[in-house]
Amino acid sequence: MAVTLSTNAQVADLLDDVDYFLLDLDGVVLLGDSVIPHIPETLRHLRESGKQIRFISNTILLEREGLMRHLHAAGIAGVAMHEIYTAAYTCALYLQENFAQREDHLIHRNVFVLGPSGLNNEVQSMLAAGYSTYGPELTSIPYSPDLVARAWTEPLLPLPSHTDENNHPHPLKKTKISLKELDPVAVVVGVDYNMNMTEMACAVALLQCTTARFVATNPDPADPAGARLLLLPSSGAIVAAVQTAVGRAPDVLCGKPSPTMGLLLMEKEAQEGRRVDPQRAVMVGDRLMTDICFGKKIGVRTALALSGTQKLRDLTELMERGATDELPDYVIESLAVFLPKSSS
Ligand SMILES: [Mg+2]
Repeated sequence: MAVTLSTNAQVADLLDDVDYFLLDLDGVVLLGDSVIPHIPETLRHLRESGKQIRFISNTILLEREGLMRHLHAAGIAGVAMHEIYTAAYTCALYLQENFAQREDHLIHRNVFVLGPSGLNNEVQSMLAAGYSTYGPELTSIPYSPDLVARAWTEPLLPLPSHTDENNHPHPLKKTKISLKELDPVAVVVGVDYNMNMTEMACAVALLQCTTARFVATNPDPADPAGARLLLLPSSGAIVAAVQTAVGRAPDVLCGKPSPTMGLLLMEKEAQEGRRVDPQRAVMVGDRLMTDICFGKKIGVRTALALSGTQKLRDLTELMERGATDELPDYVIESLAVFLPKSSS
């Protein structure tokens, strides 16, 4: 049964037991573009109490630097890059862990990215000079199955935009490349607002005909939009389309609720000299099936914040169908419960 945290004593007990606060962003810190009431002062209080804060988001639209600027502009001061873990950054960490050379921690291969600039930039930052992400170069090319089939061996596609001529003259001797020449080590797939069929067909062709690792950013099927909260396609829908065409599931899923995100976070923190003890960490989120499920998979405590998507009736529904293992450890009205009541 989840414990509802409401009194100062209950909150103080949890604060004594926890060093790391893993915070979902939308529904816990922000609601759309607005900051949830009392969150900036709550974050300040947690920091002043010596707590480590990490923001855990499934976004792939912005790279961490852009997200950090967005949080600062929204009124949340003091957020540092190393505190942000997104699904895009997790993909980059996954690729680095699996494919980087030990000497420089960089990947000496190309990576195909079916995804937005935030994802593209995070992955590009893990590549050695002369190697490039590839995919957005194709978004203005009208789709023709024949073109993609011929482009497997014929140089019909634009050059990678990041290729460094000085370090890696091939294939810049040409003006176009083939898919086979690209020879990516991985195909990373997430939602891209500018994607077209040419880009998706090339991703599918590469996954069929090479040993490239199939990396999915996050499973969210749809994101709510507009006043009617229309559910419009997100990464899960695009991953499903590629998976259906290729006939196999992704080799890895990077965003919540996959434990990959938590494991890579713990490894990164350890590399920087900070050990995360799961017994002394709490995941705070507003969604049962992503945030709370994620927290349970990585063995940390979990707290459902009622400031976002899910409400008490969702917990009642879980209990009625006997799914008690899906319940969070704690329920809080909002993250602001951690602000001492006298200052809120
Ligand atoms: Mg959320």
